[in-house]
Amino acid sequence: MQRKSGFSVLLILIFVTLFSAASKPEDPRAEITSLRYHQHLEFIRIVLEIDKIREFYSAELKNPERFYLDIFQAKLNPSLHGKSFELQSSCIKTFRLAQKNPSTVRLTLELYPNSKDREKIYYLKDPNRLVIDVYPKALAKEIKEPAPASTTNAKPSGQTATRPKEQPPQPPSPSSSGYSLVRQLGLGVKRIVLDPGHGGTDPGCLSRSGLKEKDVALDIARRLKRILETQGQFEVFLTRDGDITLPLEKRTAFANQKGADLFISIHLNASPKKTRTGVETFYLNFSPDPAVNELAAKENASSTKNIREMKLIVEKIIKNSKYEESRDLAEKIHQNLLNHLKHNFGPRDDLGVKGGPFWVLIGSEMPAVLVEVSHLSNQKEEEALKTDIYREAVATGLFRGIMEYVKSLGKG
Ligand SMILES: [Zn+2]
Repeated sequence: MQRKSGFSVLLILIFVTLFSAASKPEDPRAEITSLRYHQHLEFIRIVLEIDKIREFYSAELKNPERFYLDIFQAKLNPSLHGKSFELQSSCIKTFRLAQKNPSTVRLTLELYPNSKDREKIYYLKDPNRLVIDVYPKALAKEIKEPAPASTTNAKPSGQTATRPKEQPPQPPSPSSSGYSLVRQLGLGVKRIVLDPGHGGTDPGCLSRSGLKEKDVALDIARRLKRILETQGQFEVFLTRDGDITLPLEKRTAFANQKGADLFISIHLNASPKKTRTGVETFYLNFSPDPAVNELAAKENASSTKNIREMKLIVEKIIKNSKYEESRDLAEKIHQNLLNHLKHNFGPRDDLGVKGGPFWVLIGSEMPAVLVEVSHLSNQKEEEALKTDIYREAVATGLFRGIMEYVKSLGKG
């Protein structure tokens, strides 16, 4: 190996660092890599291979009759752009895939009027496939002989006649159209409690220009509630929907009383290190890290209990708490929020997912996390936090994390 002086090695390092810092952030979109379809006896199956599982939404349109499926946070492989497929069926005339907008792929089926009975949409794994089974109306009973089924791989011309051998691998029971993945999989998350940190006499941390944590946290929580509610499958509650003083203990008690499936406490960070930015996410645990305990002490300030008293309780509670789930929820919220902010607003610090002794998480009967979404102590993030666009992005990042967690429950 050729020898290099320390100086040139340093130069290379600087160059590599600069280059990687300037490189684009990772594309969060899932790629749809292939499409194939089979005409079975009783239904038509369309299979999309997708490298990551993504949320979808389906609905019907009239004049002309169409059925569409939107896959969010997804992109089409270039080989699928502008592809249209013609079918010899009593129900679907043609179907096509298109990149509806930069983050949404739409599958559109052109239908014969009043010909579709129902559809089932579900994911299968290894590799990830989104499967759409379309059942024509009353056709199944009329057919006596099995019709030849066709199989193609993104090429309508290359059809090979095969008889459908295998039964569909136990999709979830059908429901009305327009349903989402969560309901499809029959998952448990229905009620979500969002907890805007602080409030009333407790302002939380303050920025240099006087922005209060309690106000920003409430605004982000309201935005997140709205985004979650547009999904149509969650009931979302705020522990406080105004500038009121609310003891920490009452916040989890509220979530328990509501029978919530998730509890998310939203906070803004403040650090003596003014350059520090980014996201830090916590689940309940006893922490050996003094910095975490210092932050917890700040967040716990409105509680009448002391840290020593708390350690005893935390140790007791951890044995029975939703430790694994909370950690998992924290990881997903953290990554999604951080990636979304990085993607839209540039680099920021990944302060990690940590256990911490937070009063507000104690006693929750559901997965519970506390997320410090950005820093009021950092000038750049403080300025951003004054804007609607940044607050909306924070809410969107949190939303994505929640959705990823909800979806992951169905994979187990
Ligand atoms: Zn706080």
